Amino acid sequence: MYVKKQRLLTPGPTPLYPPALHAMMGSDLHHRTEDFRTAYRSALADLKEVLGTSHDVLMFAASGTGAMDGSVSNLFSRGDKVIVCSAGKFGERWVEIARSYGLDATVLKAEYGDVVTPDRVEAALAAEPATRGVFVQASETSTGAQHDVEAMGRAVARTGAIFLVDAITGIGTMPLDIDGWGLDIVVGGSQKAFMIPPGLAFLTISPKAWKFASASSLPHYYFDFAKEKKNAEKGESSWTPATSLILSLAEALRYIRRIGMANLVENARLLARATRAAVAELGLELFSPGSPSSSVTAVKAPAGMDSGVIVKQFRDRFGAIIANGQGSMKGRIFRIAHLGYFDFVDLFAVIAGLELILHAQGLPVDFGSGVRAAQNVYAEAAFAREAAV
Ligand SMILES: *Cc1c(COP(=O)(O)O)cnc(C)c1O
Repeated sequence: MYVKKQRLLTPGPTPLYPPALHAMMGSDLHHRTEDFRTAYRSALADLKEVLGTSHDVLMFAASGTGAMDGSVSNLFSRGDKVIVCSAGKFGERWVEIARSYGLDATVLKAEYGDVVTPDRVEAALAAEPATRGVFVQASETSTGAQHDVEAMGRAVARTGAIFLVDAITGIGTMPLDIDGWGLDIVVGGSQKAFMIPPGLAFLTISPKAWKFASASSLPHYYFDFAKEKKNAEKGESSWTPATSLILSLAEALRYIRRIGMANLVENARLLARATRAAVAELGLELFSPGSPSSSVTAVKAPAGMDSGVIVKQFRDRFGAIIANGQGSMKGRIFRIAHLGYFDFVDLFAVIAGLELILHAQGLPVDFGSGVRAAQNVYAEAAFAREAAV
């Protein structure tokens, strides 16, 4: 009641992995020294390993949007025809970036809570053979939906276009076979499943996308992929790097390699499944029931209630910061995150807190029913696995 620990439970920034936080204190490190080069090279190599790709990996001092912006300005030219799948606030961001650089964007729109299906992408590619790029979110964080990037990637790979995937909350929450599925650009950010603070953006870039880089005529300066690759090969970054975050990332990557990327993904999937079971038990509805993501579960507020009340109660009663909806979804949904450094104790607490909050708002709640549903998912997954060993 009186002691309230602050808990950051949003889908970015996410809870910090403590050793990674401590690693930031070693940041009195000059970036043009062998010590830094060694740390940077190894962080890039570990990142490549956890992403499971043979493609080049580039890193920037920027939030995730920086790498999205750079992907457009480095790979395209004014007037290029592109297809953008837009199913939420982040899809709209791809549209805005593409249009601000003068690309000719055809938008495949899905209602919030819905997804763009791969057959729509195939049809749009067939209708416009000159298409140079297809953009999508692996996981649309604003609605809690996920796209079938495997099927889309295979479709785009058969054409002359490149496939650009904002996987900022997809990495670490869903399987992504970057090389096998034809994901030419995959964008990530530090403050999501990587369990460290905001400030680093990275991406993987395929050989096919490098050809686009040579042909591009859009202006860019800070985000210069060819220059960044040349410098990365020397263990350096083009500009002053975010050294503290790179040291932090190195520590987080050690952790992710230790538990295994597939298990980090499985962790998020189980938490998401348990959350869906719990909210269903409490009589709440998912905002994206058709293709729910494992990064974040978006839940509709009960009829007649503003979701801001739930968000505020979490903060005031329990010191916990959970996410409201963005844009027009604000007030209609709240979002429970699963990506990165989240575990079942976090989730049990969130569901128990949610039950108390709903009760305080006058809703009939059978205390423990949501928690029990989450416990059942844990028990089924964990105890079965333990019995098998
Ligand atoms: C967080 C996020 C971003 C990046 O936002 P920044 O504020 O620039 O870090 C982009 N796309 C998705 C899907 C995200 O969740």
